[in-house]
Amino acid sequence: MRNTKTMTIVFLMIIALFTAACGSEPAAESDGKLQVVTTIGQVTDVVRNVGGELVAVDGLMGAGTDPHLYVASASEVDLLQNADVIFYNGLFLEAQMEEILEQIGENKPSIPVSKQIDSARLLDSEDYEDEFDPHIWFDVTLWQETVKQVRDTLSDVDPDNAATYASNADAYLAELDQLHTYVLEQVAQIPAEKRVIITAHDAFRYFGSAYGFEVMGLQGISTATEASTGDVQALADFIAENEIPAIFVESSVPIRNVEAVQAAVQDRGFNVEIGGELFSDAMGDDGTPEGTYIGMVRHNIDTIVTALAGE
Ligand SMILES: [Zn+2]
Repeated sequence: MRNTKTMTIVFLMIIALFTAACGSEPAAESDGKLQVVTTIGQVTDVVRNVGGELVAVDGLMGAGTDPHLYVASASEVDLLQNADVIFYNGLFLEAQMEEILEQIGENKPSIPVSKQIDSARLLDSEDYEDEFDPHIWFDVTLWQETVKQVRDTLSDVDPDNAATYASNADAYLAELDQLHTYVLEQVAQIPAEKRVIITAHDAFRYFGSAYGFEVMGLQGISTATEASTGDVQALADFIAENEIPAIFVESSVPIRNVEAVQAAVQDRGFNVEIGGELFSDAMGDDGTPEGTYIGMVRHNIDTIVTALAGE
């Protein structure tokens, strides 16, 4: 009897030691949290909202970063290789990183958040044949699909916490419903003929189709090709002829091209304002309202309304 009891205690102690060893092994640097690496801030924010306390997220691309041109450094490749899960936008947004993201994806989940979006909802790329326009976060209802993708992937990787991921996702989706309604209400303040958005690069086409704007970018869908003098002149003609009140700067694209357009419009005897800075491919600084997806969308629509609804 005594022997059995002793053996049971020893056995339990071994189990306890073994469990402690297992538990501390992959989670040594992470308090047991799932280690997630992401690319653009918009994706980082979705993962923070769905993963909550259960994940530690490293976002590679901060404020002002252009994802079309971004190349991962050696230490970032290490970070990707050590992650439990990787999320990126996909649709060839991270053009210089797509190969490594796919390659690492052979050994672990490396998932484009755009993966389960029905291609019928996607716009064709004007720059790359056989690619879609990657700027899907500009239509809030389309971006909601990425929340579901993140929920599903985290639940596959960490099924014990699937209920938490599901309830976090539901709560965030409800916030995004409200955000979509807010954008529609703001847009209603702009007279229909003034709903034209001209920016440095062609990032706003989903915004245009979701919320009823004509959109024009000086550079194409990617920033990889420079705008030509002819592009500047053609855009200046359009602005002067249609008396467009304002054009916009983007936080992740140098201001000089937009200023060149403004000067060319002035040469035509018309004054176009720079209507402010919009967050297109990068969000604002961490810790500011614009450093979240919801804050970025609100900032953009508020800036657009102020610039275009006047008079
Ligand atoms: Zn872009």
